[in-house]
Amino acid sequence: MDTGIYRVKPGEKRIDLGAWDTDDDGGLARDVADVESLKLTERIAQLQERLYAEGKRSVLVVLQAMDGAGKDSTIKSVFGPLNPQGLSLTSFKAPCGHERAHDFLWRVHAHTPSRGYIGLFNRSHYEDVLVVRVKNLVQESIWKKRYKHIVNFEELLVDEGTAVVKFYLHVSRDYQRERLQKRLDDPAKHWKFEPNDLTERALWKDYREAFEVAVAKTSTKDAPWYIIPAEKRWFRNWLVAKIMVETLESMDIQLPKPDFDPKSIVIK
Ligand code: ATP
Ligand code: MG
Repeated sequence: MDTGIYRVKPGEKRIDLGAWDTDDDGGLARDVADVESLKLTERIAQLQERLYAEGKRSVLVVLQAMDGAGKDSTIKSVFGPLNPQGLSLTSFKAPCGHERAHDFLWRVHAHTPSRGYIGLFNRSHYEDVLVVRVKNLVQESIWKKRYKHIVNFEELLVDEGTAVVKFYLHVSRDYQRERLQKRLDDPAKHWKFEPNDLTERALWKDYREAFEVAVAKTSTKDAPWYIIPAEKRWFRNWLVAKIMVETLESMDIQLPKPDFDPKSIVIK
């Protein structure tokens, strides 16, 4: 399958998320996808080890979505099998005191992955053109310029050796209702429910518009956005894993050459 069909082409001002299916399965059968997903995650783990051994470059994975779309479960399913040594995960919440004393990228840059690492952003600098735009947390004249700053920031990361790949987990408003209801119905999931999620849900249209603009304006050749149909979770996992393998393989990661001759060394 050509995963390119899920990639957002550069140069758009706004995309229409309505034209992207939320419960697409890519024509795959679930049992086939599940078996393949296991192999793909094994392959990601192998490539992660090479990346760590090479120690020269890194990969930044950005995950964004509406509440309840499955960011946490994607992280667990696709990235859970990786070696924790070589993985960094940052979950971005609303900026706290000292973070607010700086520009919006300050705290983000500090968490970009070190050389050799895969870095996951659960939410990210995109919140600064999503929730910030929807809730008017800063003036429009400020957030409007942030798309450009984000593109430039990601270009800097790429130029300095970080591959950047961004996933928008795409679900419908009905699906969100189901997921939020599950959090209410299951006592073990109550901790995941926040009454404020309903305030955000009421702003669904505004969030959607903010995503349509953000994704379009910041999908570039080297830092692409992928729209992941996320209602069939097994397909979501398969597609994210597949794109991760493709991204890592395209980097042509090289194991470092030893500066000694292993054959000449005798261990007594
Ligand atoms: P879950 O889906 O499991 O609830 P979550 O990602 O929503 O996980 P929360 O702790 O519930 O995690 O929410 C984090 C909150 O932080 C979100 O409401 C998000 O909009 C907010 N946030 C993140 N970054 C920023 C930012 N730069 N400015 C303002 N709010 C932000
Ligand atoms: Mg939440």
